[in-house]
Amino acid sequence: MEGALIARDKVGVQDFVLLDSHTSEAAFLNNLRKRYQENLIYTYIGSLLVSVNPYQELDLYTVSQMQLYRGVNFFELPPHLYAIADNAYRVMCNEFNNHFILISGESGAGKTEASKKILQYYAVTCPTTEQLQTVRDRLLLSNPVLEAFGNAKTLRNDNSSRFGKYMDIQFDFKGAPVGGHILSYLIEKSRVVHQNHGERNFHIFYQLLEGGDKELLGWLGLERNPQKYAYLIQGRCAKVFSINDKNDWKIVRKAFSIIDFNEKDMEHLFGIVASVLHLGNIQFEEDSNGHAIIRDGSQIKWISKLLGAHLSILQEALTNRKIEARSEEVLSPLNVDLAFYARDAVAKAIYGRTFTWLVNKINGSLANKVGFLSGVLNKTVIGLLDIYGFEVLDTNSFEQFCINYCNEKLQQLLIEMTLKAEQEEYELEGIEWEPIPYFNNKIICDLVEQKHKGIISILDEECLRPGEATDLSFLEKLEEKVGDHAHFVTRKLADQKTRKSIDWVDFRLLHYAGEVTYCAVGFLEKNNDLLYRNLKEVLCNSKNSIIRECFLLSELDNRRRPETVATQFKNSLTSLIEILMSKEPSYIRCIKPNENKEPGKFDDFLIRHQVKYLGLMEHLRVRRAGFAYRRKYELFLQRYKSLCPATWPHWHGPAAEGVERLIKHIGYKPEEYKLGRTKIFIRFPKTLFATEDVPVP
Ligand code: ATP
Ligand code: MG
Repeated sequence: MEGALIARDKVGVQDFVLLDSHTSEAAFLNNLRKRYQENLIYTYIGSLLVSVNPYQELDLYTVSQMQLYRGVNFFELPPHLYAIADNAYRVMCNEFNNHFILISGESGAGKTEASKKILQYYAVTCPTTEQLQTVRDRLLLSNPVLEAFGNAKTLRNDNSSRFGKYMDIQFDFKGAPVGGHILSYLIEKSRVVHQNHGERNFHIFYQLLEGGDKELLGWLGLERNPQKYAYLIQGRCAKVFSINDKNDWKIVRKAFSIIDFNEKDMEHLFGIVASVLHLGNIQFEEDSNGHAIIRDGSQIKWISKLLGAHLSILQEALTNRKIEARSEEVLSPLNVDLAFYARDAVAKAIYGRTFTWLVNKINGSLANKVGFLSGVLNKTVIGLLDIYGFEVLDTNSFEQFCINYCNEKLQQLLIEMTLKAEQEEYELEGIEWEPIPYFNNKIICDLVEQKHKGIISILDEECLRPGEATDLSFLEKLEEKVGDHAHFVTRKLADQKTRKSIDWVDFRLLHYAGEVTYCAVGFLEKNNDLLYRNLKEVLCNSKNSIIRECFLLSELDNRRRPETVATQFKNSLTSLIEILMSKEPSYIRCIKPNENKEPGKFDDFLIRHQVKYLGLMEHLRVRRAGFAYRRKYELFLQRYKSLCPATWPHWHGPAAEGVERLIKHIGYKPEEYKLGRTKIFIRFPKTLFATEDVPVP
């Protein structure tokens, strides 16, 4: 057993709960550092797994490693993702219940890699049939497709997920994966039209240009050189050393064919990708009346062909806005700035909705047809949540606001399901317990999402006053309504609350993970996410089947204001939390060891900060003082009654008494367990594992 006393000093302990010294942050960091330096990137806190990104390929993910972890008790082997995955799987099979694995950590910490490795683990180790092979392949291959369209190189991560992803893997009663379902969250559409220095647009654009054959590019009207496209050159890094776009293109193409995309789908999909690039190259100039006109007609011709849209109507829609005056519709010419705005809005809208279409299409191909046909409707699921981590950039905008709000919600879930639930349970069960203090971030979630009073509501209200409201009036409203909140600061309020300087257009939130200053510029526009009506009309009438599915004609009849982006996001997060709350949790907390993507470099300062905001110390304290396992008396007795002559084969008295007889017989020591009102609480996992191994008399 790794970490056993052999060279404990050198490799540290594999479960922080076993640290000798009291639970100080220094001891925690020491242990993490020791292990990291020995390439032991995984450590437990009880059943929670802490993972530190190795930034190098380790020999940890081979098929033989997978076999090793299969069906083995949690603590008998070195900590690993596979142990977490296997444990969730086995409990699911034994108790026939649903699970989720929440993978969190900041950008570049290794969440996506972890979720892919877990999926591979299930693909390799779960029972399967020939019929189910396709499901397995599709589950695996949905990743490269979604990454091509939803990931991008950022300053922090060369393959950063720019959308949130929750994937259910569905299992039949034999434990074979029979289907899957993906929910995606808020893709960062603004990246389509703008990238910061050192960052790229979504991978698919570069893959298509690098890998697409001559004939395809010719058909799409594209040149191979990314430098030719305005939407690809702003970050000045079209080529990235660690990324092989040509090769990735091949993988994506193959994945598409296995996920059941036909040639027509492909044609229309790449037609959209190419249209976005052509849109970006459209330039406007002013005519003598100050109205925008398109400078060169070649791009718009390509877009008209690829989207199957009427050329002159498209042209008109990009330079005019249809306004309804009384019962009449009048065209109002756009100035150059507004025309650029309209152009970018189309590019963002078609890309964003195509991404959603892609997720739906993949879901169609992952749908559990086998189970349905054979009448095996009973299935259980393991959900994998890989969602964007807490993000602090030099300039933080609406996107970071949404991402960080999402992280607040997940932190709240973790608190509800572990720290709070755990302590409440001890109380409820009458177990003696010294409460462990922790910071409950509910107060910040409320600040953002509370009805009428929260930041999102205030933003939505401002969005309802077109022409009058501005980003600055939004800031003023914030000051007025949440100015006295302990976690909110603007410049006007800064002097009273903090001495750190803050700009006029900024507001600052004191998140659970630290302070973030947001620039309010663009909040209203991004939250409204409006597309001029005549552009929508063009898209609704498109002959490109994907675009037509994404822009339904019924949308034009609907005169109600669509929900704002922040409200949609809030609602989808609320239902995600509901989905998760109904399942058994496992947690993986990923840590980024340094800012330079360097193997072996353990940046104390950076890591200490993550340990703090991931709440690892609180978790450890609760774990150390608490009990690793608990089982209802009935379940415990059912499982282990064969180990004691008094309870086997039937115990007729109260379950609690049966359990008492049983553990006396097995020889549990008093410090190893406590008996609550309805459950037995077991302090260390090893006690339970030893019980699993007791030979049946
Ligand atoms: P984001 O929030 O930006 O999506 P993330 O947490 O999903 O970030 P990943 O994309 O999973 O981060 O990891 C970033 C990079 O770190 C990977 O591309 C890979 O190079 C490296 N990496 C992460 N985990 C591992 C691992 N277990 N082994 C080897 N390299 C890893
Ligand atoms: Mg990721």
